[in-house]
Amino acid sequence: MGYNFSAGPGIMPAQVVEQIKRDMPSYQGSGMSIMEISHRSALYTDLAAEAQQDLRDLMHISDDYAVLFLHGGGTLQFTNVPLNLAQQHHHVAYLNSGHWAQKALEAAQRIEGLQVDDVPSLDGNLPTIQDPQRGALDYLHITTNNTIEGTTYHHIPTIDQPLVADMSSNILAQPYDINQFDLVYAGAQKNIGPAGMAIVIVKRERLTDQPILSEIMDYRLEDKKDSALNTPPVFCTYAAGLTFKWLKQFGGVDAIYQRNQEQAKMLYDFIDNSKLFNNPVLPAQRSLTNIVFVTGDAQLDAQFIAAARAQGLVNLAGHRLVGGIRASLYNAMPTAGVTALINVMKDFEVQHGG
Ligand code: PLP
Repeated sequence: MGYNFSAGPGIMPAQVVEQIKRDMPSYQGSGMSIMEISHRSALYTDLAAEAQQDLRDLMHISDDYAVLFLHGGGTLQFTNVPLNLAQQHHHVAYLNSGHWAQKALEAAQRIEGLQVDDVPSLDGNLPTIQDPQRGALDYLHITTNNTIEGTTYHHIPTIDQPLVADMSSNILAQPYDINQFDLVYAGAQKNIGPAGMAIVIVKRERLTDQPILSEIMDYRLEDKKDSALNTPPVFCTYAAGLTFKWLKQFGGVDAIYQRNQEQAKMLYDFIDNSKLFNNPVLPAQRSLTNIVFVTGDAQLDAQFIAAARAQGLVNLAGHRLVGGIRASLYNAMPTAGVTALINVMKDFEVQHGG
C-alpha cells in the first residue's frame, strides 16, 4: 500500500476519491459528470451552499463573516487581500516567517501607494506574533504554518491590530478561533481538495463599497454573488464539500487535531531518537503538518527518498529551495502511513549504520 507525503497537492481522503469515482458518470442521476453541470443549476448551487455551511460548522464561522470559494489558489490572495483590506490606512505589516510569508509580502509591496512593513517574526529562534506598534494598520499578516521550513506558531495571541492569516497548509488541521482574524485565506490543495481554488473567510464589515482593481478580485462582489461572479470552480467546490463531510464524520476539527498531534509526535519522537535522521526545528516551533528532516548528507537524503519511493511512499523530497526530506501529514494521512514511513526509516537506519 502506498502513501503520498506531498506538501501540495496533498493527499486526499481515500473515501472522498472513491465517492468522486462513483459520482463521475452521472452526478446525482443528471446524466452529466460534475464537470459538465451548469453552475447556475440547483445541482451546483445546492452543493455550493452545503459546502459553505459545512465549512462554517467545522470552523464555527458566524454570519459576520463571508465565506468565499474562489479561483486562483493562495497566491492570488497575496494581491487580493491588500487590494480589499488596505483601503483605510494604506499601511500594513507582514510577519516574515518564511518563504510563503515573503511571497505574500512582496505581492503587497507591488501595490502602489501602500506602506508595507517587513517585520521579522523570530524572537531568538522562536517565531512570535507581536504588535509591531507602528500606529494604526489595516492589518498584520501572518502565515500560520510555514510549509517549506516546517515551522508554526502554536499560539495566536490577542493583539490590537486586525489579523490576516494565510492558513494554506494547516487550515482544518487544528482549531482556530476565527473571531481573532479579520480575514483567513487558504489554497485548497492541502487539507481541502484539488488545486485551483482558495477559501477566503472575511469579516463582512471590512468589505467597503469602494471599487477595487477589478470585479473578480472584489470580495464584496463575490460575497453578493455567492462566489459565482463568473463561472466558479465547480469541481473543486464539489470535492471540497465531500472533504468537509468526511471531516465532520471523523468528528470535526478537534478530533482530527488530536489524531494529527499523535501522528506528528510518532514521527518527531522517532527522529529525535534516531542516530541517522535529524530535525533542525526547535520543538516549540515545529509544524504539525510539514515535518522536515535530514541525514546531514544530501546524497544519503536522496538515497532515502528513493528507498521510500520503492516501498510506495512518495513525494518525500524537501522543497527544491531547501532540499532534505519533508513528510507532509495532512488530515487525509492515516496513521498506517506514518507507521509505514517510520518502518522504512528504521530499515534505512540499520542499513546505513545508524
Ligand atoms: N501559502 C502557503 C503557506 C503555501 O504553502 C502555499 C503553497 O504551498 C501558498 C501560499 C501558495 O498557494 P497556491 O499554490 O495555491 O497559490
